[in-house]
Amino acid sequence: MPELPEVEALADVLRERAVGRVVTRVDVAAISALKTYDPPVTSLGGLTVTGAARHGKFLDLDVDGLHLVVHLARAGWLQWRAQLPSAPPKPGGKSPLALRVHLDDGAGFDLTEAGTRKKLSVYVVRDPAEVPGIARLGPDPLDEAFTPQVLAGILAEHGREQLKGVLRDQSVIAGIGNAYSDEILHTARMSPFKPASSLDSAGVGQLYDAIRSELVDAVERSRGLAAGDLKAEKKAGLQVHARTGLPCPVCGDTVREVSFADSSLQYCPTCQTGGKPLADRRLSRLLK
Ligand SMILES: [Zn+2]
Repeated sequence: MPELPEVEALADVLRERAVGRVVTRVDVAAISALKTYDPPVTSLGGLTVTGAARHGKFLDLDVDGLHLVVHLARAGWLQWRAQLPSAPPKPGGKSPLALRVHLDDGAGFDLTEAGTRKKLSVYVVRDPAEVPGIARLGPDPLDEAFTPQVLAGILAEHGREQLKGVLRDQSVIAGIGNAYSDEILHTARMSPFKPASSLDSAGVGQLYDAIRSELVDAVERSRGLAAGDLKAEKKAGLQVHARTGLPCPVCGDTVREVSFADSSLQYCPTCQTGGKPLADRRLSRLLK
């Protein structure tokens, strides 16, 4: 799933290539992806792209005051195309194409979604805050206003929750998902199951530094990359996430995982849990 750094890089791609161009047409290939009808998506036609921004994991294309807002969900992506076909896409079928935006120089971009669980969402709104998922967002961890004091307040407020869940909750902190929460906790040398309230002020500082350094580094690595190279770059930068069974790059211990109904987390026992593996309910059930 694209998280803060990848969405920030995609916003960069749009700022560089789409701003200043006129939208000539928007093709909706997967009608279920479009979550709004007023203003209609056709109203973007003829308007100039004036900006691109990120709100949490939402991508926001500013088209002269109208906003095309996209949430890529788990398997969605944006593909920049230097030359788009002019024929409209065939509706239905097995194509991963959800939406196509044509610009006046023949270029544009496709929003695609792999797999059968279609969750990619597109909104056309006059104000990004009209998108419920954006209205609910907590503070952005790359914003200057996100200080160690702000983080301390968040942890106190969610004291009984586990760090992994607090970091991933978009209404608490915006933009961090399953992958970067694993990476942040590894860098901070903290168990994903540690209660938020158990951190002393040194611990809060350690977690704060890990959040900032992981995200800033990932954004730096992603900047300037073509959209097609972002996924590989994200994968190459990960130390524990999606690396079950591989050695931890810091200490050499084997990266382990805990599985849930529809996701899993990865961690290093030596770096994060005092060498003790965490209970994996699914695994222990299988072993019975
Ligand atoms: Zn380790």
